Formats: sequence, structure tokens, C-alpha cells
Amino acid sequence: MFDCHVHAAPDVLDRIGEDVDVLDHYWKSEFDGFVLKGHYESTVGRARALARMSGMNVVGGVTLNQAAGGINPASAAAALIAGGRVVWMPTADAHTQETAGLPRLCDREDRLERTVFAVPPVEPAAATAAEQVLALIADHDAVLATGHLSGAECAWLLDRAKYYGIRRVLLTHPSYTVPGLNPAQVRELADAGGFVEITAYQLLHQPGCSAEMLAEVARAAGSRLVLSSDAGQPDSPPPPEALGQLIDALARAGVDRRTLAEAASTVPAELFLN
Ligand SMILES: [Zn+2]
Repeated sequence: MFDCHVHAAPDVLDRIGEDVDVLDHYWKSEFDGFVLKGHYESTVGRARALARMSGMNVVGGVTLNQAAGGINPASAAAALIAGGRVVWMPTADAHTQETAGLPRLCDREDRLERTVFAVPPVEPAAATAAEQVLALIADHDAVLATGHLSGAECAWLLDRAKYYGIRRVLLTHPSYTVPGLNPAQVRELADAGGFVEITAYQLLHQPGCSAEMLAEVARAAGSRLVLSSDAGQPDSPPPPEALGQLIDALARAGVDRRTLAEAASTVPAELFLN
């Protein structure tokens, strides 16, 4: 098993445990590895330390939120040159997040500007910086994750990713509240080359979410489905358990067990590691 999305302390939000505690959960559950995500800090060094001490495949990267300077090629370059395998487009500081009223760093520190980040077609002026980031991802054969950007921006990113020869595009939980895409929209983006993430967090915490809705998204994704926990919240089960609950719920909703097993192991491992 390989969980391509988990959070750990230290972070600006409370987490279920520190890096080593989260590692321990995966170790005991005999996972092959996981991707450590931080909304506000590069996880490249943290992931490397965990990989070194455990022998597991622990992967890090950087998220292009306000603390990284937004769509900032220097942040992407620093993370990728140091061995990061993934660049997430803006998440907590994406324009969608502000519109949806979901938590942001500037909620915690009111001296920060409430700046939001976007790419074309929402923010045409960000094209040059975004394309530099894409060129860097292509050079490093790394993963482009779409973060919380909207469907139109995901479509733009997929189109430009193709131009730059990026082989690995992960649509970050497209059916979550942000960006909030429906199964037909997800299918279109999967057909354009994106892998489709469904998270245990959605099942556990997303308002109005059901296993049936997620199963529809899973069917739209087909063989491009990726399951992750996105866990690490104090009120979520330990990440391996959260991922197991997602798999069971989708199986009960009629999704093929074998497809689900691959979506939580070989598909994300291939995407992030090989
Ligand atoms: Zn996350």
C-alpha cells in the first residue's frame, strides 16, 4: 500500500502526531510508503529523514501557497533540486478556498494579507510564473498536483503539462468541496491525462459527501483512480485505517475491489516513485 497524501505535525493546524508517529502507523500497517504533504512548508527534508530512518518510500514536496510565495518558480526549484517529487498548486490559499470560507493561514495571523492565488484562465497574469513551474516539474519528471484550483484551471494545467511533457498529473481530490467538480467534469479531466484522487478525508468530513457520490467519481476515473487518506487530523482515524475505511466504503458502493486495491498501491506508487 502507498498513501499519496497525509499530514503530520509540525503544522499550523493540529495533527494526529508528529512525522515519526505517522510513520509508525504506516510501518505497523506494512505500507510501502507515503507522501507527506504540508500546506505551508516544504516536506522534502522531513520526508528524506523519514525515508532514511525507516527504509520506506517517503516522498515530499512543496505547496505553492502564500508562505511559498504563491506561484513561485523559486520555491518549486528549491524543492525539486533538493529531491522533492511533487509540487502542489495552491491549496489553502487558492482563490477557491477563500470563496468557500475554508481555513487559511491568514485566518490565524491577521497581519497577513488575504492574498489568493490562481492560474489561467482565472488569473491570466500568472501564466509566465505557472509555466516556469511546469517546465521545472517536467525537467525533474516530478508530479504536478492541482491543489484546490478550479476545474477550468485544472484543464489549463493539463493542457500546458502536455506541452511541457509532464507525465505525472494528479488531480487533487477534484470532488471535494474545493474544487467541487461533478463526475462528468472529473471524467473529462481524466481523459485529458489526469489521475483522479479520492480521499478518506472526503468520506469522513466533507459536508454532503456519500460513498455513493465517491463511487460515481471512482467510476468516472476508471483506471486513473488514486485513493489516499489525506488524514492526519486529530479527529480522523490513523491514516492507514482511514484509507482502509475508504476502500471498504467504495467496495460496498459497488466499486471493484481489485481496482480499489490498485488505486491505493501500484497506481500511486507508479505515479510518485517510478
Ligand atoms: Zn491534504
